[in-house]
Amino acid sequence: MADTVSFLVDPLPVDASPEFFEASFREIEPGSGALAVNDLAPHRGDGVFETLAIVDGHVQEVGPHLARLANSARLTELPEPNLEQWSLVIRRAAERVPNEGEFALKIALSRGVDPGTTPTGWVHVTPGAEFQAARERGIRVVSLDRGVSRGAGDRAPWLLLGAKTLSYAANMAAIREAKRRGADDGLFTSSDGFVLEGPTSSVIARLGDEFVTPPPASGILHGTTQRSIFAYLEGRGRRVAYRDLTLDELRRADAAWLVSSVRMAAPIVELDGAPLAVDLDETAALNAYLLSPRD
Ligand code: PLP
Repeated sequence: MADTVSFLVDPLPVDASPEFFEASFREIEPGSGALAVNDLAPHRGDGVFETLAIVDGHVQEVGPHLARLANSARLTELPEPNLEQWSLVIRRAAERVPNEGEFALKIALSRGVDPGTTPTGWVHVTPGAEFQAARERGIRVVSLDRGVSRGAGDRAPWLLLGAKTLSYAANMAAIREAKRRGADDGLFTSSDGFVLEGPTSSVIARLGDEFVTPPPASGILHGTTQRSIFAYLEGRGRRVAYRDLTLDELRRADAAWLVSSVRMAAPIVELDGAPLAVDLDETAALNAYLLSPRD
């Protein structure tokens, strides 16, 4: 058993025979020099990735994450990933960490070594960061203009706003800016005042008895956690909706969360320095659901 595990993966074509799967990846020393310096991932962020949670030995929502990996690959014109191969690699990596506790499992698919004809891949598992406080006590959030108006995803598909690409430098800069302003996290808005998403999370607001999230077509990544929460809520007869959400509406929400695969549901307790309504019971129920084994 190890706390940190890395595998290097040769991504196989979609029609490869399963007999080649086990030999298509190998464990490497975490932090060892395994990627070629002329790989297009370190050079250009030209690749796609997913981050999955492992909770007490169970990898959460492998199917939805692999479906999004395939969609990100399609949007970036990478070869279609062999999802059976990736499922096996994920399983093998998860087997290497203890059966108790939370871990974050990242899978990445790069366009490969310049000029990018053969993709490269890797898996990296690390202990989950301590998110108890964010889940229970909440987070302070500042809104940050993403500099594009609503619908940029459709008008400028080359921005790849709906793909989970390795080009996250701008997202990391947004989090640094939020911290500089004394908050815990950021919330991207469109230049015309609509709420989009966090730099590494989706936003859900409860307005009255309806849970609202912005539509993925507005130029955001469709979150697996948000989808899972909506399915859970619908299963309990609650009302959910994809619709445009203004920053003013969010300020008046009865509760709001930034949700993501590893941190799970973090209630927003403060938005741009003003307190936001919090529902601790609802938050606890959402996190209990998110921490339960999910496929
Ligand atoms: N939006 C962005 C930009 C993200 O990076 C993430 C996750 O990292 C999410 C939304 C939430 O996605 P998920 O719930 O699948 O983790």
